[in-house]
Amino acid sequence: METKKSVTALGLLSGGLDSLLAVRLLQEQGIRVECVHFYTGFCIQGHTGALRNAEPGAAPPRHDALHAAQVLGIKLHLVDIAEDYVRIVTNPKHGYGANLNPCLDCKIFMVAKAWALKAQLGFDFLFTGEVLGQRPMSQRRENLPHIEREAGVEGWLLRPLCATRLKPTEPEKRGWVDRTQLKGFTGRGRKPQMAMAEQFELRDYPSPSGGCCFLTDVNYARKLQDLWNFRGERAYDMADILLLKAGRHLRPTPRFKVIIGRDETENFFLAGFRAGRWAMQAVDLAGPLVLVEGHPDEADLTLACRLTARFGQGRDKAEVQVALEGHGRQEIRLVAPLPPHEIPPEWYI
Ligand code: SF4
Repeated sequence: METKKSVTALGLLSGGLDSLLAVRLLQEQGIRVECVHFYTGFCIQGHTGALRNAEPGAAPPRHDALHAAQVLGIKLHLVDIAEDYVRIVTNPKHGYGANLNPCLDCKIFMVAKAWALKAQLGFDFLFTGEVLGQRPMSQRRENLPHIEREAGVEGWLLRPLCATRLKPTEPEKRGWVDRTQLKGFTGRGRKPQMAMAEQFELRDYPSPSGGCCFLTDVNYARKLQDLWNFRGERAYDMADILLLKAGRHLRPTPRFKVIIGRDETENFFLAGFRAGRWAMQAVDLAGPLVLVEGHPDEADLTLACRLTARFGQGRDKAEVQVALEGHGRQEIRLVAPLPPHEIPPEWYI
């Protein structure tokens, strides 16, 4: 057994219950823990929670990983990997899960990134809050060693919540971590974790149904697939993927799509993306800010103005003035709001 003065570990922290418990289990053994949280651009966290008007009495949006780090009393490294992550989403070697989630490639990529950070910061080993068999793609028994191998961390990735069902890792073999204090959780059930949370007096953690990232969301994945289909390639930039999170998205013709703000907060968010797009809003009437993407012709722009009128306060008026701006042009069009029966369901993406 190797003796060390003080053992240090770097963990991947999503902010969900499992990652909190993994940290607590190691802290119980006197291990000094810090964590890393990766920002991919698809995270259902932080600013995303603030995209819609708040429901009366609703708790303010919060960043789960930051909150968890505060509760655990640990330092959190927030690392933006969005730029490099594009190739993982657009060309995953191991394919997609149920939607456009490339979970296996994503996990390999994040573990490799965390490993590089571990080396840079001088930690002894790496850990995650993964539970064997909890997720269909990245947490299958046969995939766990595969992730370690491809990420180049074989033997050095500890999974405290299911460690006793896996081969001992180097930190266990070297006596840095007491394997008998680790867990053997498997499957999708949450009861053992909830009991453990109670034991550690952790009560304020996000619901497991909250999801990890937008790529697992069927509605979001449909909009991303639509974007790729009409671009003719799997490519995106940050503005593209942020815009997919907000508004109603309608594609009346292959030439263009409209994004319609659903409340004041979304209008405000969309306003930040006017550059390079057409933007329209009814004059002197409350209603959505509408963005138009693609290559609309004049008739398409009029149709988009009619949609703008339809989703605003002037929906029942015979005519509404809509201010139209973009591509160096500014004008006001007088249009009739588009009646609901002229908006076919297939326009909605
Ligand atoms: S759900 Fe999203 S963040 Fe989580 S492993 Fe899958 S692709 Fe990565």
